[in-house]
Amino acid sequence: MNSAPAQSACRLSSSAAGYVMDEIADGIFWLGDGSYQNMFVVTDEGVIAIDAPPTLGNNILRAIDRVTKKPVTHVVYSHHHSDHVGAMSIYPERAPRYAQRATAQRLELLADPHRPPATEIFDDAITIDAGDHTLRLEYPGPNHSEGNSFRPPRLAVSAGRLHPWKALTPPPGRLRSGQPV
Ligand SMILES: [Zn+2]
Repeated sequence: MNSAPAQSACRLSSSAAGYVMDEIADGIFWLGDGSYQNMFVVTDEGVIAIDAPPTLGNNILRAIDRVTKKPVTHVVYSHHHSDHVGAMSIYPERAPRYAQRATAQRLELLADPHRPPATEIFDDAITIDAGDHTLRLEYPGPNHSEGNSFRPPRLAVSAGRLHPWKALTPPPGRLRSGQPV
């Protein structure tokens, strides 16, 4: 019923930095450059990073560094298109990389060093337990691309008792997707 966007807890940067970052829920950050976006979740163990558009590139790491000194411990591919994940190689190689099976297969075929292969592969759903946050990835079937593991409203995050399995509803206008590559 309540579809109002999450209130922004803080706006941490300006367009002068080449990106804008908002904390859209407790420990959950949205990062955008006007065309593409990335999300990351700061847990008490580390950071779960979702996607890495090349247009944001290392600004993603700079943005993370502004809010936490914790390492990136988990990496999520929403899908395989390079405009959204073509800079995934910025994340630590040791971090497990999650992808739906169709996405994982495409990454293998592409053999792109900037889109390293998935290490954690799922078919229908998978839950990432990382400290005080839980991230559930679901695959409802082909949508934007085959293997697109979730659309943002399906991104469910639990942050202790404060946001039990809260379904995030990103603010309007933030879901614009780039052209498939
Ligand atoms: Zn795409």
